Amino acid sequence: MALTKKQSDALAKQVFEYAPAPEAIDHVKIQPRYGLYIGGKMVAAHSKKHFPTINPATEKTLSEVVEADEVDVDRAVKAASKAFESWSHLSASRRARYLFRISRLLQERSRELAVVETMDGGKPIKESRDVDIPLSAAHFFYYAGWADKLEWAFPNRKPRPLGVAGQVIPWNFPLLMLAWKIAPALAAGNTVVLKPAETTPLSAMVFAEICMQAELPPGVVNIVTGAGKTGSFVVSHPDVKKVAFTGSTEVGKMIQRSIAGTGKKLTLELGGKAANIVFEDAPLDQAVEGIVNGIYFNQGHVCCAGSRLLVQESIAEPLLEKLKRRLSTLRLGDPLDKNTDIGAINSRAQLEKIQGLVESGIEEGAELYQPECVIPERGFWFPPSLFTNVSQSYRIAREEIFGPVLSVLTFRTPNEAVEKANNTPYGLSAGVWTDKGSRILWMAERMRAGVVWANTFNRFDPTSPFGGYKESGFGREGGVHGLLPYLELN
Ligand code: NDP
Repeated sequence: MALTKKQSDALAKQVFEYAPAPEAIDHVKIQPRYGLYIGGKMVAAHSKKHFPTINPATEKTLSEVVEADEVDVDRAVKAASKAFESWSHLSASRRARYLFRISRLLQERSRELAVVETMDGGKPIKESRDVDIPLSAAHFFYYAGWADKLEWAFPNRKPRPLGVAGQVIPWNFPLLMLAWKIAPALAAGNTVVLKPAETTPLSAMVFAEICMQAELPPGVVNIVTGAGKTGSFVVSHPDVKKVAFTGSTEVGKMIQRSIAGTGKKLTLELGGKAANIVFEDAPLDQAVEGIVNGIYFNQGHVCCAGSRLLVQESIAEPLLEKLKRRLSTLRLGDPLDKNTDIGAINSRAQLEKIQGLVESGIEEGAELYQPECVIPERGFWFPPSLFTNVSQSYRIAREEIFGPVLSVLTFRTPNEAVEKANNTPYGLSAGVWTDKGSRILWMAERMRAGVVWANTFNRFDPTSPFGGYKESGFGREGGVHGLLPYLELN
């Protein structure tokens, strides 16, 4: 028997009522205060300054970490330089063994790491448990395999490590970004000084424990916590030979300017404003799941998020209807609950940025849709949102919102889709939904984007390279390409 829309909406609500299913946290031991991980052990800071890191879902303090100063960073770089002498000469298969060991320990401590990542960053536990942590372990496993095969990866090019890599990472995928940076650097024979983001330092502190557990030689990995200033000490240190940065385009440009002329190698993985393009022959239900995953995954705190939906005019109406219904089934709330789809916004500052851009969208004339949902009293939250009536000139169509906000635009012909998709200063990713293989290839050839997903979105694998064009940065992470920025070749 066919259901009316009203009946099916009521049924959807009924079916999607779940009992609370919170993940246990009693197995996780977060220390009240952390030092810096330098020269193979946790040491007290020269700066003597600490700051709290909070749970964005409750605003409660979880722990205190060091705000490292220039002297602290210098100690970390010295430890890394000293370790480089032996680490770079260690037999490659022994280097691989350490990386395999780290990968195994990440797997063994995955439940704990998932809880820490969720509490410190606000992301749903099902994402940290099923995506962040397994992918982090997979990156170490994958690059462990390359450590003793560099000569085969780059035949007749005599691959040699560079020295100390200074790495600065953001708050949206704290452990995963750490793995993207540290695993290829170590596999190639470099040593590292890494600075996690101010709001999400805790999984890096657990990672420091894992390095000690793995008996990684002292100084091969060093972790200094702090805010932007600490990051600038890392990238500008004269003994740092290679800088790897993931974060905002604005800070990326600042870093590029600050190290120009120093001879340091640089990779920048910056923002994005990806188009997720749905043609009229696409399987609509599948596309709706891809759109939801593309923009609401990790509250939209994703550099490659499909934040601009380009939908062919002929199917705009049915697609939007399905999408709105799907949005009403998303569960927002306690990130530690295994049924939560939308967790907390990472910080008050990020929430304010999202609110500001959403207000600009309304003022400029776009139409906002948000499903009914209960917002918890404490913490930072933003409901899944979508804008229709969007013009390409609106800020919500041009700027990276980095939140659960989708801007919907329409197109009539494939050429128009290409033109609109590429009409952005960014070029990190894109998605194409169509039944025709030939159209996928035609579109992929024309997209100015580092990654083009076909009939899926936000799929990651350690073996495939990731990176951008234009204001999304340069250099690639992942795959054999991810080794290149950490090597000198003849
Ligand atoms: P930032 O680019 O400021 O932060 C990224 C990392 O760089 C953090 O570890 C940060 O430290 C550090 N940092 C900040 N300033 C400097 C500096 N001068 N030299 C060296 N390192 C520095 O991003 P925000 O956290 O401020 O987020 C702002 C916006 O950037 C977001 O709203 C989003 O649009 C975008 N963004 C994009 C990301 C991406 O993956 N493409 C990731 C994160 C943000 P700390 O945070 O500790 O101060």
